[in-house]
Order: sequence, then structure tokens, then C-alpha cells
Amino acid sequence: MNIIVLNSGSNGNAVYVESARSGAAVLLDCGISRRQIELRLKVHGRHPQNLRAVFITHEHADHVRGLPVLTKLYPLSTYLTEPTFRRMYRNRPHKGHRFMENSATVTVEDITVQAFPKSHDASDPVFFVVTTGEKRFLYITDLGVHDAAVAGMLAEVDAALVESNYDEHMLETGPYPPDLKDRIRAEYGHLSNLQAVDLLRRHANGRLRALILGHLSENNNTPEIVRREMEALFAERPDFRPALHIASRYTVGDVISV
Ligand SMILES: [Zn+2]
Ligand SMILES: [Zn+2]
Repeated sequence: MNIIVLNSGSNGNAVYVESARSGAAVLLDCGISRRQIELRLKVHGRHPQNLRAVFITHEHADHVRGLPVLTKLYPLSTYLTEPTFRRMYRNRPHKGHRFMENSATVTVEDITVQAFPKSHDASDPVFFVVTTGEKRFLYITDLGVHDAAVAGMLAEVDAALVESNYDEHMLETGPYPPDLKDRIRAEYGHLSNLQAVDLLRRHANGRLRALILGHLSENNNTPEIVRREMEALFAERPDFRPALHIASRYTVGDVISV
């Protein structure tokens, strides 16, 4: 399985997941423009024609902004839950969408995508586990609090993109108004660095070979803080040594193969 994070953050999210065997791929979220998707895939010799489908986690603009133009140019099926669709399109007709339940499993060629409900302030938000062959990838951002489903899945995947949205101290002392701070910290908001570390400390194991921290806040976090806190965890857990990647808000990431 090959994973390319095209962008991650409140300015746009899109992750390309490819079967190493067939070359078929799916896109998880589509929060950057069709043009940027093309350009960023091209860096690694890929093209949207590799894509077989798009899967949408929830209707927030940073996860869907590029979808109408991408799917107009490329005939891709879009899988999303019906409440997410209703919120996005407000009952306007839209071609190419396919409803999935928030606990559905969808197979596209040799790629299987499982959806699970999650805690976030959207109409019917989900997270995904993608399977190709023996390999599994967990994609979980925009998460207020984790539950047993997230924890259980983290122990059974080879790669994961986990939200590490904000540093508690930076958020507390930063410029945001109190109600926005509360919204970010709420159980329908976002995971902090410490919550991400705690989740990984308690539930990840040696199977996890590639760990991507993503959806970092521009104002309340830095890649350096996230890296430092994860490396502190690795120092106390010699059994847990995944390759560590910090997903960028600005540039395409490496090809991550598991
Ligand atoms: Zn988001
Ligand atoms: Zn969101």
C-alpha cells in the first residue's frame, strides 16, 4: 500500500491511498482544488486517472472544497453518508454520489474502505480504515474524543494518520476568542497533541510501521512540538518505533509505503 498526504489541516485535507499491486487508488477527502490535486500527484508520477473513488469524512469545507470540480472533470464515484450529502448540497441534485452508512464497508477493485462514526461537530462524521491485501491504513482527523472503535482500530493497522491539532498551552495563551477555544477543545472538536500521544501510548503497538500526525493548527501548534512529544513517547516505548511523518499544511508529503 502506498499513501500520499496531499495536504492536511484546516486549509484543506486530501489523502491518496493506492494499492501497490494494482495501482488503483482512492482519495480520502477532497479539501484542496482539482488543480492542486493534479500538481501534487504529479510530483510523485501519479494522476487523478489512478483514482477509482473519493470518500468523504464530513461536510466541512476543508474536506470537500475541491470535490465538485474534481468530479466534474473525472468520472469518479463519491461515497459519503446521506446526512453529509444533504448538508453539502442542500437537496440540489448532484451526479456521481453514492450513499454509504456510517458503518459501511465499500470495495473498489482491490481496495476496501470501512467507515466508522466519530465524535465531531458535523452532521454524520466518519473515519476510515482502508485495506489493500494484508495492509491497513487508519485515517482519523477532526476528532473531539476517541472511543473504543478508534482505539481498537489503532491496534490493528500498519499505518495511521492521526490528528494532532493543537498544543494546549499555545491554544490557552493564543489569540482565539474563548468560545472558539472551547469549541476546539470540546468533545466534538479536535484532538490535542497530548490526546494524540495518550491515544497512541495506550492503544498502538508494534504493528504500526508508519505514523503520520496531521491536521496541525496553524496558530496553535508547530511541527517541532508534535515531533518532540512523539519522540518522547518513542523513548519510553522501545516496542513502538513507527516511521514518523508530520503532514504538511502547505506541501505534498512523501510516498509512504507499508
Ligand atoms: Zn478538518
Ligand atoms: Zn471538521
